[in-house]
Amino acid sequence: MPPRYVFVTGGVVSGLGKGAVAASIGKLLQARGWSVSMVKLDGYFNPDPGTMNPVEHGEIFVTEEVWEFSPGRGVSFRIAEIDQDFGTYERFLGVNMHPSNNVTSGQVMLSLILGERRGEYLGQTLRLIPHLVMEVRRRIEEAGERGGSDVVVVEQGGTVGDYEASAFLETIRQMRLSVRSALVHVTYVPYLRQVGELKTKPTQTSVRILQGLGLQPDGIVARSDVPLTPEARRKIALYSNVPEDRVFEDPYLDVVYRLPLILEEQGMGRFLEERLELEPRRPDLDGWREVVERMTSADREVSVAMVGKYWKMRDVHISIVEALRHAGAALGVRVRVEAVDSEGLEGGRGWESVDGAGGILLTPGFGSRGTEGIIAAAERALEGDRPTLGICFGAQLATAAFARARMGWAGANSTEVDPGTPYPVVDLLPEQRAVRDKGGTMRLGAHEVVLLEGTKLREAYGRRIVRERFRHRYHIVREYAERMEGAGYRVAAVDGSGRIVNAFEVEDHPYMVGVQFHPEYKSRPWDPSPTYLSFLRAVVGEG
Ligand code: GLN
Repeated sequence: MPPRYVFVTGGVVSGLGKGAVAASIGKLLQARGWSVSMVKLDGYFNPDPGTMNPVEHGEIFVTEEVWEFSPGRGVSFRIAEIDQDFGTYERFLGVNMHPSNNVTSGQVMLSLILGERRGEYLGQTLRLIPHLVMEVRRRIEEAGERGGSDVVVVEQGGTVGDYEASAFLETIRQMRLSVRSALVHVTYVPYLRQVGELKTKPTQTSVRILQGLGLQPDGIVARSDVPLTPEARRKIALYSNVPEDRVFEDPYLDVVYRLPLILEEQGMGRFLEERLELEPRRPDLDGWREVVERMTSADREVSVAMVGKYWKMRDVHISIVEALRHAGAALGVRVRVEAVDSEGLEGGRGWESVDGAGGILLTPGFGSRGTEGIIAAAERALEGDRPTLGICFGAQLATAAFARARMGWAGANSTEVDPGTPYPVVDLLPEQRAVRDKGGTMRLGAHEVVLLEGTKLREAYGRRIVRERFRHRYHIVREYAERMEGAGYRVAAVDGSGRIVNAFEVEDHPYMVGVQFHPEYKSRPWDPSPTYLSFLRAVVGEG
């Protein structure tokens, strides 16, 4: 069967949860037994989002595999840092995504230009049409082939009308001439309280932009904070040239995992089957429904204070927040996340959230701003008995806190934060010393983690060797860790070579664990990460 394509575009504003719509479409097809690949097209010129500011761009997702992207002429990058929507895709579909499924303008431009230097376009003028469009198409098709997929769901990043998206939208237009596909446009329908009305004009305008590019949507997903009235639905249908039953409502949801169920109830699955000419099948969503039920039916609530430096952006730690929710669902509790700004802590603000929370989570990060606040929170955690989990940077700074508080090593720090620290308990990985370039040069992707006998983590995983994902340049220095072992610091995990400290635990603390890896990237709604589960167990009091 030739692969089918579903293209998902967005209109009106960004931040509508278009990734969740694309993932839900993938889920509904997967639940019918079709194999699905997810592709995301991003208009920016960075080959990957790895160097972007998390406050602007949100979380960077890390894949299991590292992709060696070699556009030519001795140029090659390692790519494992991709758009956060891939986290949503993995959490919905339970399939590891390949990094090359995130196609950026930067990647395709590089391939074209370096291909031209190799002589692949002799005699030709390299242009947006046909060359760039062909290259994007090649990448989309390759993703489908790699996954052996029946259906490839392609999400167009950004909003229609963005200059950056135009080459991708033209690719979609041309592909639609020769493949079986559906185009689903996600828009926003604002409610104006003053007049008590839902306004469909922005949707009409964004559909017209699409039509101006030669693209006619087959279905509209309308995000709205109040239920769509029949009148609003009728208007959207009329002005978009789609039947009313192909205007789908995307309401505000308590848990995002409910979205596939809501879209299925409105006939999204049937619409896709018809449009893609797939044989009709009954979707198996029972297991999924159960997970959603478990997430929403909990009557007990616990709180976790997440201390970090990037909280100006809501989604910046989305995989961690989701991993806590997955663990909560397994334990039958709802997790309330308190976002605590570490710079605020430095100025004395926000401590009541830290002190009032059931557990403390020290977040990943880079650079020196806001780190004293994280270290202070870790010291507070060490003094008390609240369950505390440090992730990557959080684990590194908790190690500095231990060194200061328990060893009396004043000024202990990571050399990333304070290159002149008298106690460099965290330092560059040896293999990073010669690295000068920034993009894609960290220790990335999944690596073996050896969990040591008699530790909480070993018990949590029930296995000696696991694979977890990493994204770091610095590490906890073994010699210092060993010196701290006499004071209750315990190395709990190492890498396959035994060289890199991958986790620590504090022996005389009910639960204080730091991990160098990012277990949140592998957590699934129905299969929570053992690290997060053990942390939340301790928070709930079952540890
Ligand atoms: N900045 C630290 C490092 O490079 C931690 C990175 C992270 O938290 N992902 O090692």
